[in-house]
Amino acid sequence: MDIKTEIKCFRCPGTRCCTYTTEALGVAPRSKADFDHLLWQISHQGVEIYKDEGDWYLMFRGSCEHILPDGACGIYEIRPQICRDYENHWCEYDAPAEDGFELHFKNHAELLDYCKTRFKKWGKYPA
Ligand code: SF4
Ligand code: SF4
Repeated sequence: MDIKTEIKCFRCPGTRCCTYTTEALGVAPRSKADFDHLLWQISHQGVEIYKDEGDWYLMFRGSCEHILPDGACGIYEIRPQICRDYENHWCEYDAPAEDGFELHFKNHAELLDYCKTRFKKWGKYPA
């Protein structure tokens, strides 16, 4: 849909880009112990894991407390830098971010399946 960027955010259902946070893992998980740790993290409500352009991230589902009922930012003048840097020319209004992910695990079962594929001898316990 062609929509002006000035009004785009006010038409965005659920203010999509403000409904989660992410944190880069820094170092890609490699060992069984690394993945065992991720299995613990993803077992918690709202936690997902994804790989994008070679880097791994934790994703925490949960809307920002500053979203106003009309979808606007309640702290617009003092919003964090990462919010200022995010441009809406092509954003999650146009396509979900996960469309470009190399890997995306939404729960323990999905990540465990991946571990069993990646490590032939995953076993009952990874150690
Ligand atoms: S930047 Fe994009 S995804 Fe975020 S609120 Fe605006 S239109 Fe929605
Ligand atoms: S501070 Fe404002 S722009 Fe940033 S995530 Fe929260 S509502 Fe969105």
